[in-house]
Amino acid sequence: MKKLLAVFLSVVIAFSLSLSIFAQSESDECNCGNIPVIFVTGFAYTDLVANAGTEEEYGAFGVETEAITDMIKRLILPLFEMLFTRNYDKFAHKLSAEVNDLFYDASCDENGNPKNPTVDIEVYDPPSPYHFRNTKSTFRYDWRKDVFDIAAELNDYIEETKRLTGHSKVALRSESMGGAVTMAYLHTYGYDSVETVIMQSSAFEGIEMMTSLFVGDLELDPQPVMNYVGNFLEGNSTEMVFYRALYKTFASLAFNPVVNILEGLIVNIKDVVYEDCIKSLFGYIPGIWAFVAEDSYEEAKEFMLDEEVNAELIKKIDKYHYEVMNRKEEIIEDAMANGINFAIISNYGKAAVPLGEQSTNQSDFLIDTKHTSLGATCAPYGETLGDGYVQKIDDGHNHVSPDNVIDASTCAFPEITWFVKDMMHTWYSDGYNEFAYNLIYTPGQETIHTYPEYPQFMLNNQETEALEPLTKENADTQSTDVDYIALFELLIASAEK
Ligand SMILES: [Zn+2]
Ligand SMILES: [Zn+2]
Repeated sequence: MKKLLAVFLSVVIAFSLSLSIFAQSESDECNCGNIPVIFVTGFAYTDLVANAGTEEEYGAFGVETEAITDMIKRLILPLFEMLFTRNYDKFAHKLSAEVNDLFYDASCDENGNPKNPTVDIEVYDPPSPYHFRNTKSTFRYDWRKDVFDIAAELNDYIEETKRLTGHSKVALRSESMGGAVTMAYLHTYGYDSVETVIMQSSAFEGIEMMTSLFVGDLELDPQPVMNYVGNFLEGNSTEMVFYRALYKTFASLAFNPVVNILEGLIVNIKDVVYEDCIKSLFGYIPGIWAFVAEDSYEEAKEFMLDEEVNAELIKKIDKYHYEVMNRKEEIIEDAMANGINFAIISNYGKAAVPLGEQSTNQSDFLIDTKHTSLGATCAPYGETLGDGYVQKIDDGHNHVSPDNVIDASTCAFPEITWFVKDMMHTWYSDGYNEFAYNLIYTPGQETIHTYPEYPQFMLNNQETEALEPLTKENADTQSTDVDYIALFELLIASAEK
């Protein structure tokens, strides 16, 4: 009898146990209140390696210093030869061959497929069950791939994150190229798995610099080069203002001759270098095409690719351009109508990459502010919109920045677009991260009107690393007004140390 009871009891226990396990897996939902955050990284965020995962692994993007210095050594003699013989073509062929060698492992064939199949990104961060407050898991990918292929990987990553965390939705912080990937993801997989999207310096509308390169506009001028290097002189501390004043006075002496020589060289070798190297090296990488702005896309295709040779590649990149980039506003509207909270953060106050006509643009050091903001009207770098400037579209709010540099009224989504002055492309400050997480953990759709501490225009304070509202008082961050007494005191103090 006892035995029977024991059997009976164990059956009951086993049954109830299995029931509770079953119940557990049915209601695996997590109610912690911290939505899992996925960081959708940008172009070249993760290094490429050949022979990935083996003992013979090595860097595949030509970024190893030794390889570059070796290449330069091999080019010194041909360079001198060119200066004497003026045989520019010979040098251009030699240079192209060296660059092709250097980047061989990362390059693609005419169809956009990797030439070296052992190349992969150096590290993957798999989806994680952990989702503590103010943390994110990092989605990495081979950024040479077509945006739709990467979007498919992002979809897997999101689904696995949902399963592991017990949350039915995730939040995305999408930076740079990650913005383009996120748009392709939303277009293809819909809106059910995402609660919030934050576009951080997003490349969803392309980059003028890359567009310049892809239409053959390689012009180099001294002033934009000086401005670009000057991007690093940030903040208004006493010594920084002194360095800036010094730089602005004397930099042209150093830059003018060097840039003029380079510009002369480019003019003479450009055609050969495009044919031998730039077109096949960069033009054959599908991912890079996400950076070509829509108004120059057809021109760039005609310049860089061959309709027949590259037919397969063109089919891929057309799909992203015509289904996603050209329809980005529709996709965002649709996402918001389906309950996704959306925020666009755009940076400005930095000089653009000094390449071609676009080099006077207002930018974040890499992407133009008008593109990361979906259409802001921006004064050229270092200038303002002019005295008495009137906002282009009167919607009843002020959308002109206190420093009169940005008119956000022409943005596709002016009420959900924030601007951070003096922030390099994706070099996030503590204050920036705090803002992004605030947007994620505050329920509902936030706008520039709902956050008194985060108005439309903010300054990335170089000293405190905090974001603060931009005002007329703190907006001059390019001062050259040296406080000589304070500077003198600093010198004395450092001498006493
Ligand atoms: Zn949770
Ligand atoms: Zn408005």
